[in-house]
Amino acid sequence: MAITPTSKIWMSGQFVDWDDARIHVLNPTLHYGWGVFEGIRAYSTAHGSAVFRLTDHVARLYRSAKIYMMEPPYTQAELIAAIKETVAVNEVDACYIRPLVYLGYGEMGLNPLPSSIEVMIAVWPWGAYLGDDAGETGVRATVSAWRRNDNNIIPPAAKASGQYLNSSLAKVAALKAGYDEAILTSPNGHIADGSGENVFIVAGGMVITPPLSDGPLGGITRASIMQIAADQGYEVREQHIVRTDLYLADEAFFTGTAAEMVPIVEIDDRPVGSGRPGPITRELMDLFHQATRGELDRYKIWNERVHDA
Ligand code: PMP
Repeated sequence: MAITPTSKIWMSGQFVDWDDARIHVLNPTLHYGWGVFEGIRAYSTAHGSAVFRLTDHVARLYRSAKIYMMEPPYTQAELIAAIKETVAVNEVDACYIRPLVYLGYGEMGLNPLPSSIEVMIAVWPWGAYLGDDAGETGVRATVSAWRRNDNNIIPPAAKASGQYLNSSLAKVAALKAGYDEAILTSPNGHIADGSGENVFIVAGGMVITPPLSDGPLGGITRASIMQIAADQGYEVREQHIVRTDLYLADEAFFTGTAAEMVPIVEIDDRPVGSGRPGPITRELMDLFHQATRGELDRYKIWNERVHDA
């Protein structure tokens, strides 16, 4: 999806013009993928722009950085302030936010530890990741031949740049085969997550998603939907899911910051349930939509205002 440029990008403490936000071609993160990042969204609310669960996203960024032994030279509070400032400076109320912690230029080789640690934050308006109609019509998914990276290969608990080779291989294969999205399995064959989304099924009235031990990213949207579903009185379970559970589910959906919540209406050419977005999926989608826009008192704690008093 094309990027729509905004005005300024925050690079290690300075705002620079969008077109001047450059790094050297010998930057080691470009070569070896040693970097960690986040994908966050800000939404327009009655109180202006509010970043959805910003504190949780920044906490995950620092957990990812810890796994990769990168110590950002800013506190989490400083980075939260910098993210809000970047949204404010660019005057984009509703936007996607991409912070990246990466290695500085100067060292080369497979030991990242001597490199300096840099941080950038960019924001831009970004539509629905799986397509404008995806929320209405749902998407077609396939279980990929590519498996999710194992914990002792590239830990899936981190959101690291290099690990997205795995996601992209699965995504490209799915698109080439005519599907909208891939679902990856863990090395032991359990369903893990989509290439950039968590996956849920609804079966027997229960809302079920794989446990983190099966390798999905601990999605912030996943956690939000689990909370909303539980608050609606549904039994929410983290349990192993296998391919046939997907085929036989009453409903299925993806969750993620970029995609938001998207019904899955077909998996490997089998209709999910009726082959149309299911009622529980729609109910949770509506509530999530309202929660992100600050319309539900119960979840207002998730709306972190850019211009707070
Ligand atoms: N799984 C993967 C592999 C992802 O890249 C993402 C997007 N960060 C997710 C799940 C969803 O996570 P979140 O809801 O925090 O965006």
